[in-house]
Amino acid sequence: MRLRFPPSAWIDELATLRDLLPAASPDLSPSAVARWLAHAGAVCPRCGAFEGSAIASHPSPCGLCAASPPPFDAARSLFAYAGDVRSAIVAAKYAGRPYPVDAVALRLRDTFAERWRDLIPDEDPPTVVPVPVHPWKYLRRGFNLPALIASRLSLHLGLPFEPLALSRAGERVPQAGLSGILRRENVAGSFRVPRGRKVPRAVLLLDDVFTSGATAEACARALKCAGADSIVVVTVARAVP
Ligand SMILES: [Zn+2]
Repeated sequence: MRLRFPPSAWIDELATLRDLLPAASPDLSPSAVARWLAHAGAVCPRCGAFEGSAIASHPSPCGLCAASPPPFDAARSLFAYAGDVRSAIVAAKYAGRPYPVDAVALRLRDTFAERWRDLIPDEDPPTVVPVPVHPWKYLRRGFNLPALIASRLSLHLGLPFEPLALSRAGERVPQAGLSGILRRENVAGSFRVPRGRKVPRAVLLLDDVFTSGATAEACARALKCAGADSIVVVTVARAVP
């Protein structure tokens, strides 16, 4: 039987592929991934926006968070979405190339042991939940990159892993290429906790890229509506201007 997918979504995906595919394959060996430069500067303590200056002793929320705090408690990203970090994600998602899942999970684990140690309180360990992929993308790609990374990270951190805490109902068009406002409208209501599923009280939500924050916000709203109390968002990379 032939699988049928929405033609407009296919066209958008192909456009994304053409625009984003890297010219050269990055070195994805564990030793190369270990050398990828993590963002080391200041971040907004709430949304994790890169601020470009040195780490402040008493960081204050960015203007956006001060005006309208996001529904998650904190968000952090390890790398800027650029160079080999970006090439590796794009090549895995759009060209089916291998992704250094374990090496990246180890970089995340090491960061939780250092700069992010306050994000996982010993007395209230969270459950690792990946952002789900759109069902037809899962069928086409055969994997969900955030779930692969989240699975390895949960093992390395000794935390529970709940890959089915969220389901994805759908979005009108792929997020890639949309501006922030359109991304929010596009994913509003796209995520839900499956009926009858008990959500963890504390969640470590994992995604590959933080762009406008629209996906993280939609997931956090769904989880909080279903009873989650604390949500920390962690992404491998963060889009930078
Ligand atoms: Zn902020």
